[in-house]
Amino acid sequence: MLKTSKTRPFPTIPNPTDRVRVVRKIDGMAGIARELKRSGKRIGLVPTMGFLHEGHLSLMKCARPKCDILIVSIYVNPTQFSPGEDLSGYPRDFERDEALCERVGVDIIFYPPDTEMYPDGFQTEVSVKELSRNLCGKSRPTHFDGVTTVVAKLFNIVLPDIAVFGRKDAQQAAIIRRMVLDMNFPVEIIVSPIVREPDGLAMSSRNKYLSTEERRAAPVLHESLRMAKSAIESGKYAFPGPVIEMMKDRIIGSGPFEIDYIEIVNPDDLSTVEKFESGGEVLIALAVKIGGTRLIDNIEIGT
Ligand code: AMP
Repeated sequence: MLKTSKTRPFPTIPNPTDRVRVVRKIDGMAGIARELKRSGKRIGLVPTMGFLHEGHLSLMKCARPKCDILIVSIYVNPTQFSPGEDLSGYPRDFERDEALCERVGVDIIFYPPDTEMYPDGFQTEVSVKELSRNLCGKSRPTHFDGVTTVVAKLFNIVLPDIAVFGRKDAQQAAIIRRMVLDMNFPVEIIVSPIVREPDGLAMSSRNKYLSTEERRAAPVLHESLRMAKSAIESGKYAFPGPVIEMMKDRIIGSGPFEIDYIEIVNPDDLSTVEKFESGGEVLIALAVKIGGTRLIDNIEIGT
């Protein structure tokens, strides 16, 4: 629904149920967005693939005071999964997601089916060429093209003034910022901090795949990032190589992990950092497989 409370009155589109309004059709969503814009409302968008956790909710809480109408998209986007990835098994629980959205004051959930997003004949792709090719792009070469294509579509349908993304997916955030700049989307991109479990593991819908044993070992990813942060901040390391080796040893020594990558890059253009320069910022990003589950995490550090 579009709530009718005193603090957030939305008289143009009545909703008799006083619940979060679920919209499944693109025409319906685009029509509402256009009407909201005409009446001068500021639209906030939080794109998600659902199976919501506190990380997602933190983005909604970040967006809520910055907009009049908060729209959350829930869409498990098939084009960002490669064959053999976990598309069919990706966890879903719409009823629970709806209740959580309602709790944090979301106005509209845009929940389109695949037939709406990718009708027969669909063939266009939005691709941010270079930023999409390193880090996660090396082992998931088509992933970010799927992300940018769907996010571009969401921006065109929902017409957000602001969109909030998580720093958990730091490469994704950098790519979206580039896309917005390159394609002149009139959207302010906000990147919100990583929300972690009490033991440091970054929250992720995919944590559900971890066995008890794997879950117990998984916090080593964050521990290795924290260890690297202390090492770099100590000023004893001039070059990234030894820091990365130290992290690899720590992770491999803690369980059955398979390292996809650990890289130290510039947080804006994701270029490899050759040497730590004082007064700079670096991003340490990693992707590690535990059993069949690929987890990512990162940390930003001032040098
Ligand atoms: P997903 O549903 O995995 O596509 O994620 C939707 C959005 O939530 C993305 O912008 C993610 O970066 C963000 N997100 C996922 N996990 C976290 C987390 N632990 N902390 C902050 N943001 C997150």
